[in-house]
Amino acid sequence: MEQFSAEVQQEIDRFMAYIEAKNPNEPEFIQAVREVAVTVIPFILSKDQYKGFKLLERMAEPERVIIFRVPWFDDKGEIQVNRGFRIQMNSAIGPYKGGLRFHPTVNLSVLKFLAFEQVFKNSLTTLPMGGGKGGADFDPSGKSDNEIMRFCQAFMTELCKHIGPDTDVPAGDIGVGAREIGYLFGQYKKIRNEFTGVLTGKGLAYGGSLIRPEATGYGVVYFCEQMLKTIGESISGKTFAVSGFGNVAWGVIKKIDQLGGKAITLSGPDGYIYDPEGISGDKIDYLLELRASGNNRAEDYAKKYPSATFVAGKRPWEVKCDVAIPSATQNELDLEDAQNLVANGCICVTEAANMPSTLDAINYFLDNKVLFSPGKASNAGGVATSGLEMTQNSLRLNWSSEEVDARLKEIMIGIHKACRDYGKDEDGYVNYVKGANIAGFVKVAEAMLAQGVV
Ligand code: GLU
Repeated sequence: MEQFSAEVQQEIDRFMAYIEAKNPNEPEFIQAVREVAVTVIPFILSKDQYKGFKLLERMAEPERVIIFRVPWFDDKGEIQVNRGFRIQMNSAIGPYKGGLRFHPTVNLSVLKFLAFEQVFKNSLTTLPMGGGKGGADFDPSGKSDNEIMRFCQAFMTELCKHIGPDTDVPAGDIGVGAREIGYLFGQYKKIRNEFTGVLTGKGLAYGGSLIRPEATGYGVVYFCEQMLKTIGESISGKTFAVSGFGNVAWGVIKKIDQLGGKAITLSGPDGYIYDPEGISGDKIDYLLELRASGNNRAEDYAKKYPSATFVAGKRPWEVKCDVAIPSATQNELDLEDAQNLVANGCICVTEAANMPSTLDAINYFLDNKVLFSPGKASNAGGVATSGLEMTQNSLRLNWSSEEVDARLKEIMIGIHKACRDYGKDEDGYVNYVKGANIAGFVKVAEAMLAQGVV
C-alpha cells in the first residue's frame, strides 16, 4: 500500500472521519469514497488551485436525494409496497445521468456509492453528463410481465416529477433492461405528454441506439486490450475468467470471442461454471435466451453443455486464467480471491461491474503490480454509449452500428490514456485507480470552481 507524508495521511484521516460520521450505516458508500479519497487528496494537496475549496466534501454530498413510496398490485390483487430512490449526485458537467437498479439489496448506501462512482465515470467519458443513480428494492425475479409493467408504471408516476432530458436521464442497471425501460418510457410519455430522450437504453423502434446493449461489455474488452498492450500482450490466445450472467457478462464474452480470446467461466447466484472449451458460438446466444427467460442459474448452462462443470456456491476466481473480468456486482472479489488469482498467474483484472473488488483485494493487486482497472474506468462504455444515444435523440437521427462502435472504441482508448497520464508511477507501473480518480475529478472540479459555491 502507498505510504503518504504525515500531512497527507492526516488529511485523509480527517476527511474519512467526517464522511463516516456523516454517513453512518452506509458501508458501500464509505468504501467508494475511501477509494477516491486516498488517491485524490494527495493530488488536491499538491495543487494550489484545488486546495481549500472543500471540493471532495461537496462531491460526497448528493445535490438531492429523492426517496418515495411505490405501491402496486400484484397478480393476486394484493397491494405491494416498495421503496424507490433517485440520487442526483452532481450536475456540474451535465444533467444527472446514471442507471436504475431493481434488486432486493438496493438501499441508500448502495445507490449513493453507485451515484458517487458515476460522477467520476461520466466525467472520464468526456461527454457532458453529470452523475446520478436510482432504483428500488423490488425483486424482478419470478414476477410476471404484467407485474413488471405495473411496478414500472408506479415507479415512474413519482420519478417523472424529478427527471427530464435536460435535468436527469436514467437508464438500466441490474434488473432494468430493455423491457423495463420500455414500460418506464411509456409511462413518462403518457404523464408528461412529451416524446423526449428522457431515458437511455431504449428499444430501436423508439429512439434507442445500436450497440447500446453490447456497449458495456465491448467497452470493457476494448479497455482490457489497451491495458494488455502496455505490456506487449493482446486478447488473442488468452484465457478469461468472467463472473456474472447478465447483459454485461454477455457483451464481454462476445467481444473476447471476436478478438480471439477464450472465456472459460460464468457465474450466477447459485455458483459458477467452468467450460475449458471456451464460451463461444451458440453458447453466447444461449446466454441471451436464458436472460430473456429471467433465469440466471449457472447450473442450467452446465446441463445444456457437457463440456462445462458446475461448481455450486462458489465464485470463479479459483480457476487458473490469464485475465479476470468481474462482471456481476459489488464486493464479489475479496482478498482471498485476489490471492488465488495472483498465485494462479493472472496478469490483468479489468472490472466490468461497479466496485466488484474489495479495497483489500485492490491493494493486493496494486502491491503485486497486476494490471488492475476500476469499473469506473473500464465499464464506462455503457454510459458513454448512453451519451451517444442522447446525442442521436437531440439530433433526431440514428447512427449506424459501425459509427457507434467506432466512437465507443475511441472513447475507451481516450479513458485509458487519461488513466495512464494521471496514474503512471515512477517505475512505469500504471495505477489505474489513481489515474481514473484524478482524471475524473479534474473535470468536475474545474466546472464546480467555475460555477461558484452552489
Ligand atoms: N448502469 C450503467 C452504469 O453503471 C449505465 C448507466 C447509463 O447508461 O446511464 O454505468
